[in-house]
Amino acid sequence: MQHEIEQLTIMLRRLPGLGPRSAKRVILHLLKKPDSLMTPLADLIAKTADRVVTCHICGNFDVQSPCEICQDSARDRSTICVVEEVDDLWALESTNSYNGLYHVLGGILSPLDGIGPEDLNIPGLLERLSKSHVNELIMALGATVDGQSTAHYITDHLDGTDINITRLSHGVPVGGELDYLDEGTLITALKSRRPVGEDTDKDRQKANL
Ligand SMILES: [Zn+2]
Repeated sequence: MQHEIEQLTIMLRRLPGLGPRSAKRVILHLLKKPDSLMTPLADLIAKTADRVVTCHICGNFDVQSPCEICQDSARDRSTICVVEEVDDLWALESTNSYNGLYHVLGGILSPLDGIGPEDLNIPGLLERLSKSHVNELIMALGATVDGQSTAHYITDHLDGTDINITRLSHGVPVGGELDYLDEGTLITALKSRRPVGEDTDKDRQKANL
């Protein structure tokens, strides 16, 4: 195989979901359409890499920082939705039913993988909350063990503040990742959000009976 093609295969295999066979299939497809696909795609990737930056407030990707969402005066600045990754933000935005701001953590706490709070945008969130008047913080994290412990970690650090902490409710399957949910499920989950401590309180009540 030619040197360039070999190199391209190695690069493509670093993308999520692309094994050696599918990487080669992608390259073959590109090579067959050099003018209509390969060159425009390469140009677009270079342009995107050159122009897109991370918003220094919320962690969103945009061509400007602060991003369009953070700058939008029509949005409710008293509500911040905490998400794991930017694709979760995209999923929530596509529902057109949320008008607050976001905070992208860039991952979730994972003791097994050695990912602690300092590796994520958690210190940035706590600082942001201490400097702005936020009434509600929505924990839109996946219903996985790590997702929930991340939500608990943040909640614990906001003890004593008057920020109302809620989380997505119905429709988020246990072990479910947010960006895999269909729009309808996501809208329901967003609209029926509830206080984070609610389940714990109910469990305590049950234990007392
Ligand atoms: Zn932003």
